[in-house]
Amino acid sequence: MAENCYCTQNDCYKEGKKLDSVSYLIVHTPAVYPTIIRALSGSGGGWKKRWDKPGVEKLVHGFIDDTGVYEFAPPDMACWHIGDSWGNKNCIGYELCELETVEEFKKVWENAAAHYAALCGKYDLPPERVIGHFEAHEKGFASNHSDPEPYFARFGKTMKDFRAEVSARMSAGSGASSGAEEGDGSPGAAKAYDPWAYARVTNLTADDPLLNVRTGPGTEYGVIRQLGQGNEVDVIEEYENGWAKINIVGQKGYVNARYLEIAEREQEYQVWVGKAYGLGGSRLNVRTGPGTGYGLLESWPKLGEGNLVDVTGESGDWYQVRIAGKYTGWVNKAYLKRA
Ligand SMILES: [Zn+2]
Repeated sequence: MAENCYCTQNDCYKEGKKLDSVSYLIVHTPAVYPTIIRALSGSGGGWKKRWDKPGVEKLVHGFIDDTGVYEFAPPDMACWHIGDSWGNKNCIGYELCELETVEEFKKVWENAAAHYAALCGKYDLPPERVIGHFEAHEKGFASNHSDPEPYFARFGKTMKDFRAEVSARMSAGSGASSGAEEGDGSPGAAKAYDPWAYARVTNLTADDPLLNVRTGPGTEYGVIRQLGQGNEVDVIEEYENGWAKINIVGQKGYVNARYLEIAEREQEYQVWVGKAYGLGGSRLNVRTGPGTGYGLLESWPKLGEGNLVDVTGESGDWYQVRIAGKYTGWVNKAYLKRA
């Protein structure tokens, strides 16, 4: 379990800068072996004691040892851990404590792999975005350090092995990709929309006309952008805590679902992928309702042979379709088959 141990006395923490994005998840080791220091114990009283004081400018999001994961800073804080300003503003980093025995290393390795897998799920990153400090240097956004390879090498492991371990955990528990995270603010079980549902921003008031889109499912996460009344988004999933993960033209974020009106919320229809066919060179009319008495859909009036759409409902001889994930219209059943 991740434990909250924020280093509120640390200089970097007090500066309180925010991340611009979470582009990479960095793996560090403090490189102090053979000195043994755990997050909360060991030489000097542990890392928390060493770093949670004025005059210490470096900071990471947390330390991981054989007893667990200890959060030293909020997930949206820009921590000084990689010696490069872009890196510090776009990466999350943890230090893996260097311990002595194989048994201890195994526990650090497992705690870390589980935590990085959860982070990958939370930030929608593939395991390839989990990199060592030395790899960030190779990519050009970090100081020239070799960690964590020397620590891993003592036990016959590499960063590549670590990524494989993270990847295995991600596919084993598909729940991990729901964004569920240990510790405070756990969003609870996710209800996935597959395909994504379409929603409009609603319930905003004149006093409070903008909806915050955050980096995580809760108000403790940073704001990445804002939406106005009537803005359209895709809904990827909803959590038990009332938050939803959304997609806005390629950018993912989280909002309170109370401000979303999901178009298909009440619908039981089993959505499937349909393909326009049998058009003989002409194009298929997309109408605003189930019949030729309805006009053409302004935003997407025609489909071409072979075009794919989501079939979201039906009425008589007509299918209700969603085009390009967002435009809803109706087409004649005779020209649509399962893809
Ligand atoms: Zn490092």
